[in-house]
Amino acid sequence: MRALVLHGFGDPTVEEVPDPVPGPDEVVIDVACVQPSVTECMLIAGDPVAMHDVLAARLAAGPTRFGGHEFAGVISVAGPGSGHAVGDRVTAVETAACGTCAACRRDRPDACPSPGVLGFTRAGAFAERVAVPAKSVVTVPDGVTAAQAAAVQPLAGALHGHAIAEVRPGDSVLILGAGVMGVLHTQVARHGGAGLIIVTGRSPAKRRLALAAGADAVIDATEDVHAAVLEATGGIGADVVFETAGGMPSAGLAGTSTLELAAQCVRRGGRIVMVAVLPRHASAPLGLLRERAVALLHPRSGAGGYSPGGSAFEQALRLVRRGYVDLDCLVTHRLDGVDALPKALEITRDKAAHAAAGPAQVSIGPWDAAA
Ligand SMILES: [Zn+2]
Repeated sequence: MRALVLHGFGDPTVEEVPDPVPGPDEVVIDVACVQPSVTECMLIAGDPVAMHDVLAARLAAGPTRFGGHEFAGVISVAGPGSGHAVGDRVTAVETAACGTCAACRRDRPDACPSPGVLGFTRAGAFAERVAVPAKSVVTVPDGVTAAQAAAVQPLAGALHGHAIAEVRPGDSVLILGAGVMGVLHTQVARHGGAGLIIVTGRSPAKRRLALAAGADAVIDATEDVHAAVLEATGGIGADVVFETAGGMPSAGLAGTSTLELAAQCVRRGGRIVMVAVLPRHASAPLGLLRERAVALLHPRSGAGGYSPGGSAFEQALRLVRRGYVDLDCLVTHRLDGVDALPKALEITRDKAAHAAAGPAQVSIGPWDAAA
């Protein structure tokens, strides 16, 4: 089969590799659609984000398969005890706890220190076929497209973020950033009973997307956001702030200034959810947070940490199928064939330069099991 092989940082090629050989508790999925995550794009480019050192060590040893955990496909090989059948349309939770460590034995798979991660610790879906543990497979309901199912992992993350924020009916919600996570959090907040929803964004196109996603008001991120939020909330600030804008400026993100902004805009005793991924030793306004008794909450990273059984994925797919959440609005670039993977990485890494709302998706194989 053909698959993406990384020869060095910034040097991905598509070439012939051996077909995946499934283990006893695994299935093989023919990939229908896959999209790169921003983190994968940054790692492939050589940016010093989490896992960079692991990938650097692997590349020093030679070319390696890397990436591909947001995908959907059709099962082509399934053992009798797998609970799945050939022809099933599926996606998969990318992280699987090891099952044997002290945390796993105490029924805390979310605390497993060495989980298997699709595309990181094992070959992922930047390929025509991928083998995954049967327990990680999530069935995709009829009526959901391959493109939607491939994009469901970040939506599951937004559901998790909404849950840990304990958003109550009528709570005012401020979402910093109108990128993919900002738009998904907006839709989840709207569906989840939030009251006033305010979203900030730098570009008019992104602010329009946020309004269409259910925001009551949008604020130009280059203007005085703090003043606008105080005015909109009667002078007290937002009950909950989702910080989705911070991160490495080299990836088009807002650095650490947005956490400071979040600490100013949240009400006393409110909650901030740090969706953005910051460098390990990024600075934080701890005195301000303490003074205002603000809770700073961190979602678990990796869907396996918050959805080891796939329930958040199943709920995300349900919301898409019922039309409560629109994932199609985030897909502006669709490419065809496995050979387009390097181009998809290039577009997703610099979405602004390509006027892309979300990751570039690549259609690889058929979705209709009968095809
Ligand atoms: Zn474990």
